[in-house]
Amino acid sequence: MGIEQELLREDALLRAHLGLDSVDITQLEIEFSERLGTRVDLWGEHDHTLRQLADALDGNGRPSPRTSTLYRSRGWWRPDLLDELVLDARVRRVHREALVGDGRVLTRAELDAAVSGCAARLAHRGTRPGENVLVQLPNQPQFVVLVLALMRIGARPVLAPPALRDHELAPVLSSLRPAAMAVPARQRRFDHLRFAERLRERHPFVRNLLVSGGVDPARGHLDLDEFTSSEGTLPAADDHRRPSDVALFLLSSGTTGAPKPIPRTHEAFGHVVRTSAAVSALTPDSVYLAAMPVAHSFGFGHPGILGALAHGGKVVLGESGDPAGAMALIERERVTHCALTPAVARQWLTARAASHGLDLSSLEVLQVGGARLDEETARRLGDAFDCRIQQVYGASEGLLNFSRLDDPLDVVFTTQGRPVSPGDETRVVDGRDRPVADGETGELLARGPGVITAYHGDTDTASFTSDGFYRTGDLVRRHPSGNFVVIGRVKDVINRGGEKIPAGELEALVQKHPGVRAAAAVPMPHPVLGETVCLYVVDGGDGGDGSPTLREIRRFLEDGGLAPFKLPERVVRVSALPLTGTGKIDKARLREDVATRVAAEHDGRCPG
Ligand code: AMP
Repeated sequence: MGIEQELLREDALLRAHLGLDSVDITQLEIEFSERLGTRVDLWGEHDHTLRQLADALDGNGRPSPRTSTLYRSRGWWRPDLLDELVLDARVRRVHREALVGDGRVLTRAELDAAVSGCAARLAHRGTRPGENVLVQLPNQPQFVVLVLALMRIGARPVLAPPALRDHELAPVLSSLRPAAMAVPARQRRFDHLRFAERLRERHPFVRNLLVSGGVDPARGHLDLDEFTSSEGTLPAADDHRRPSDVALFLLSSGTTGAPKPIPRTHEAFGHVVRTSAAVSALTPDSVYLAAMPVAHSFGFGHPGILGALAHGGKVVLGESGDPAGAMALIERERVTHCALTPAVARQWLTARAASHGLDLSSLEVLQVGGARLDEETARRLGDAFDCRIQQVYGASEGLLNFSRLDDPLDVVFTTQGRPVSPGDETRVVDGRDRPVADGETGELLARGPGVITAYHGDTDTASFTSDGFYRTGDLVRRHPSGNFVVIGRVKDVINRGGEKIPAGELEALVQKHPGVRAAAAVPMPHPVLGETVCLYVVDGGDGGDGSPTLREIRRFLEDGGLAPFKLPERVVRVSALPLTGTGKIDKARLREDVATRVAAEHDGRCPG
């Protein structure tokens, strides 16, 4: 059944669910039309009118009891607990390898036993249901075991990428008041344990430090390596969890401000895992390589390691930021699926060129998302790895768009996909929340069974509309295929004397230059215009044209049809673009960098 018919069938179910007969519906159509001053059609369209009606009947736009009932009645929210979904007891062949990493190999049965053992240990050491535990671990089996064990006892893991430091974590700690933190003793050259101890001193509600890779029991650390490899079971009678409980917290990406805690319930996150896995062609024979930080939602549950495990597949934990190591793992473990950001995908292209002898033929699907993938890189990836490319445009807040594996290649290479959930409603709107014409650019708003309707503590209510849509802050347009094309951020716009320049648009265009491998546009302070464009460029595309000068880049963009006011005023060459902990281009750092350069030049010109 096509998605269109599916939505109409679901509307019919919804009518039945609301208990409305044809007389009621006609009456309501008249009333609503009068109230809203527009024609309302509750029969022919699936244009959200029924959902609005369901919300109106409940008197608010938050997931009302009625909307929750609707999501459940349609099977979008199921009575599964997340750890049970992931370690589904109905999966057979439990003696096959399920988790590989850090020199450890666990079968599914062993993983399940490790989760039970860890849950029992945690409960024994006083971790209680409803408590939060900040988990800031790298890609290692301890992460997977601990997260599932915390869920099993009803405690809530807060997934924090290892690269976050005081500035990002302090607000998260104050808001969630975790009872414990799980950290590695060292992470590369960083003394993570000392960092965690300093945080604990300032936040005394953090009672315990769970440490992997070297504990000091004298300082009251708990040995995470021992916790995650010991045996034990929890009495079943102690399980009072409900699917509507918060199962975990993700953190918003924080490229423009402090990360915000995102509560994810078992049933809503389960929906996200299931629907994203369904379009990723995961099977019990799939081998998923986690090559990005597993604490980020993309590699964790979109569909990530949770999706692969839920399908009975195997998860291989690679070290993030090690493309050559990833190539070796693909060959050794016969990896079929992997997820990357575009910046990492470009590193993979270089690593691929240097890995001639390796057999990477097992690779079936490379999922690329988190930031916009340019067409050129998308095509080169497909060729270099001889596999299908899947664009993923998602957010930890829950809206997930994937290009489909059977979309025509042109669509796959030039669009960022469409919603994976049949329950998602999307709107593309202008600055006053009015729908734009189809194909025009506007901000994407989204609501659905996987999308949150509030951040923890109801902070930042401006991110939601009064009828419960999440404001993505992304500028998109709908492609004729029905997929979205991401143009940029509403706020990632350079304002040059009132003229708006979406940075994403400029970046996509400049990356077509044969001498440019990657580029990021940021605002540069300007005394008259307020802002102009500064372009950071990584040289070395395939064209062998050397480093293009500012003048050449401007001419290239102009020839490409870009309006003159959008042309960069400065080009800064860098060997690599700085990345945030989750692998996105760190624009905040670039903005600071150019502001410092401009200030220094200004000081140089104005002595005294
Ligand atoms: P996060 O919650 O960290 O995954 O960040 C979500 C945001 O990343 C989205 O709102 C977009 O701004 C951006 N993003 C994610 N995927 C894509 C993509 N494929 N293309 C462009 N931007 C993306």
